[in-house]
Amino acid sequence: MDMQGQVAIVTGGSRGIGRAISLAFAEKGVSVVACARSLDKLEEVAKEAKQREFAGEVIPATLDVTDAAACEKCVEDVAEKHGRLDILVNNAGITRDGLLASMSDDDFDAVIDANLRSAFRLMRSATKHMMRARYGRIVNISSVAGLMGNPGQANYCASKAALVGMTKSAAKELARRKITCNAVAPGFIETDMTDVLPEKVKEGVMPLIPMKRFGSGEEIAEAVGFLASPAASYITGQVLVVDGGLHM
Ligand code: NAP
Repeated sequence: MDMQGQVAIVTGGSRGIGRAISLAFAEKGVSVVACARSLDKLEEVAKEAKQREFAGEVIPATLDVTDAAACEKCVEDVAEKHGRLDILVNNAGITRDGLLASMSDDDFDAVIDANLRSAFRLMRSATKHMMRARYGRIVNISSVAGLMGNPGQANYCASKAALVGMTKSAAKELARRKITCNAVAPGFIETDMTDVLPEKVKEGVMPLIPMKRFGSGEEIAEAVGFLASPAASYITGQVLVVDGGLHM
């Protein structure tokens, strides 16, 4: 179904999965406000959408999602400039790995702030406009790590599991207004986030993935694109796992 002319906010749109989502939306004719801290990377994404002559566009927006006031302003600016906000994808995320016994409060809080609190704030602001329009699509990028747990990632797994609970609560609250809220839980995807993993870790996980490979950002973008489309009108509160069979 048609997404032409819709307006989306995608956080973490400068690299990896968020970049792929932003480009996939723009290809479908969506005006995508892609947010991240690094403007130069966002501008490259915008340029690519232009060069590939997509029906929609990628509009770079500098935003640190841990800045509460800036999150609210971002949503208000988009709603004011475009007169609508159809789609919100909470994708920005970080890791600060370490064993639980030695994890600092700072490392725990930083991950919760960037991965969870940011999504809460953006959803709170965005749903005001979606409720008025009686239409909306929210997709939160969780992780199979949030469903399975992972040693060295207590902070990250807590943030990603909490995103699932928040997604389901929002789905129940917003269903009557025709706003859906779903999560996508990627497995191991080839991005900067997994590039930094030691070869030993990558080799260790490969036998656990039935498809015997990492996924791509584009494969996550396909799933997000469906859930964010009008076609997914009767799907809400779900977690779509996209992981080559790792978690089943
Ligand atoms: P990535 O390549 O490291 O990209 C992370 C993105 O988030 C970048 O665009 C980054 O931009 C942005 N970001 C980080 N902190 C931010 C902040 N404070 N404010 C605004 N933007 C911020 O990561 P990725 O692999 O694409 O991951 C995207 C999402 O998928 C994350 O939520 C991650 O947890 C989830 N995920 C990834 C995998 C995987 O295997 N890669 C698996 C499961 C789930 P700037 O640095 O420019 O701000």
